[in-house]
Amino acid sequence: MIVCKFGGSSVADAKQLKKVKAIVNKNEDRSILIVSAPGKRNKDDVKVTDLLYASNTAAKEKGDCSSEFSKIRSRYLEILSDLEIESAEMIEALDEVEKNINAGAGSDYAASRGEYLNARLIAIYFGWTFVDAQDLIVINDNGTINDETWTKTKAKLTGKNYVIPGFYGNSESGRVKTFSRGGSDISGAIISKAVDASVYENWTDVAGCYNADPRYIDGAYPISEMTYGEVRDLSIVGASVFHPEAIVPVHAAGIPINIRNTNSDEEPGTMITTSRDDADSEVIGVSAETGFIKVSVSRLLLMKEPGIYNVLSTMLKVHGISPVLTFINPDSICWISSSANVSDKALADLSFRLKDEYKMENVSTKKNMAVVGLVGQGLKKKPLAIANSINALDKANIEIDSIDFGTSDLCLYILVDQKNSKDAVQAIFDANFRK
Ligand code: ASP
Repeated sequence: MIVCKFGGSSVADAKQLKKVKAIVNKNEDRSILIVSAPGKRNKDDVKVTDLLYASNTAAKEKGDCSSEFSKIRSRYLEILSDLEIESAEMIEALDEVEKNINAGAGSDYAASRGEYLNARLIAIYFGWTFVDAQDLIVINDNGTINDETWTKTKAKLTGKNYVIPGFYGNSESGRVKTFSRGGSDISGAIISKAVDASVYENWTDVAGCYNADPRYIDGAYPISEMTYGEVRDLSIVGASVFHPEAIVPVHAAGIPINIRNTNSDEEPGTMITTSRDDADSEVIGVSAETGFIKVSVSRLLLMKEPGIYNVLSTMLKVHGISPVLTFINPDSICWISSSANVSDKALADLSFRLKDEYKMENVSTKKNMAVVGLVGQGLKKKPLAIANSINALDKANIEIDSIDFGTSDLCLYILVDQKNSKDAVQAIFDANFRK
């Protein structure tokens, strides 16, 4: 059995839904669909999920969301009319959602209705069975998946041809609870694990996971095969085709993920598996994420002091800094953290306390940094790729602030000034991937 998740742009209008139907009809194993809310039809369009958040805000602030909700209503009515479907059931469902948002059902409820209404519509269009995600997926208060999910889903999905809304489940107290944005990928992964799917097909609007961001890297092309770990590390450094948390359920069950393009279904896309044949021969991608701060401290014999690492980590946390990467030397530590939500005042207070209370000899903070990551299984055994990358940065006159392998054998992290991040990725790409 194949579980297919169709993302927002794949289910944005009737034209896209016709493509979805043609794809599903090509393989009768494609018998469970997880769907997103209608996404953008063009670059200036607004996602239904964003319209729903706006409706919820209007209901809270003015007690009435009718003006915001009318845009949502027209999106679904247009899809229904373009598919030549007349459905009193959908009109009733739209009325009920608007009424509940106005009555204060809350942000998670409102946001989830894009998927809910779309799954109901698609179930009517396909003549398949709608199953509500609230009856299948139980999300614990701490965001983890409750084990009841597996038994509930197995008990409910005993046949075939189901349409299930992505992005939400049931909270421990029986209310709608959403995942983070883009979370329909997680729903698809959970259902794939629960039904022990042979493949989890993730249909989107690009030809797969690219070896560099095709929006700004000249010559980037899709990766044919990669491992879960490589996807995870590429997403840490900014690649964003697949929600990183969605790997967890399928990884544990060893179910392959196939990223495919709804607009070009003859292309094989990217296959993500536990291991790949060419694991020892190729690096697979390069990407960069901007918006980091680097905080460094040093003092002679710093790491000899018992418990100092924990003490300093707590200090950072108190000032709103949660590092994504940490580099440690005997006399110094350097933390790289996202700069979102960290104010200049918090940084100044932190620096003062590190010097004053913890007697650091040097404390420095550097903003506007980018982490460039070169990713590939067995990277440490690929000295040429590493040498080529560093050489390419040198030739492009891009200063390397720091460099680290992290603890895995998957990624080389290079810290550069963020104004150089695109040029750095292009230089490393040209040195390793250009065909
Ligand atoms: N519709 C939700 C979002 O826009 C979830 C998803 O599409 O996966 O984030």
